[in-house]
Amino acid sequence: MDREPPEPPENPEKCVGIDVGILTYAHDTDGTAVGSLDLSDERDRLEREQRTLSRKEHGSNNYEKQRRRVAERHADLRRKRRDFLHKLSAYYAREYDLVVVEDLNVKGMMESPSNSRNTASAAWRTFLSLIEYKCEREGTHFVAVNPRGTTKECAACGVSTDKPLWVREHSCPACGFEADRDANAAWNILSRGLEDVGVGHSEGTPVETALPVDTSVSAKRVVEAGSPTLKERTASAVSE
Ligand SMILES: [Zn+2]
Repeated sequence: MDREPPEPPENPEKCVGIDVGILTYAHDTDGTAVGSLDLSDERDRLEREQRTLSRKEHGSNNYEKQRRRVAERHADLRRKRRDFLHKLSAYYAREYDLVVVEDLNVKGMMESPSNSRNTASAAWRTFLSLIEYKCEREGTHFVAVNPRGTTKECAACGVSTDKPLWVREHSCPACGFEADRDANAAWNILSRGLEDVGVGHSEGTPVETALPVDTSVSAKRVVEAGSPTLKERTASAVSE
């Protein structure tokens, strides 16, 4: 890496760690859990047009017309996914001074089940590179950290416990700290990012100060509102 290390953020409160996953698309240290985008309607429509295409005589006018319909449905899918990722990444770059995510070169291989591995890690990669790009544009510090152990480690005491993918709760046998699995991972991601920029443990881990209540947000709301939160700041910025 020949890039300059980012300046430490002036206000550590405006820092966020984001864990990306399969069941919850993104879970951040402010307690926002954004659901995965539901594209089942778009997929159904695409499949219907593909079935119709398969019944057309290859090379006929009707075949060409139908082929274009299939291409349009493909474009709908891509547009909707891109819109969601653009809005969510723009939100993080705009709202925070420091955004910490996982380095997916490691994460993609470790966490996704093999059948959805490529799809999930490709979507994460797009999302995280959009965040990086938008952070650069907004002057927001961006850090990608090694995700190894972020789900197993306790964000409060650092003790590692094995946790299969289906265990959604973090419950620490060493210190008793309990949190959503992804929230715990997001805290670890943020801690590693703060360490990277040199504002690490002097202020104590974020977990020791205050844990936000997790809020589930649908991907649909992100697409419609342009952001996963309805904070006053965001609301006034939008209405201006
Ligand atoms: Zn613990």
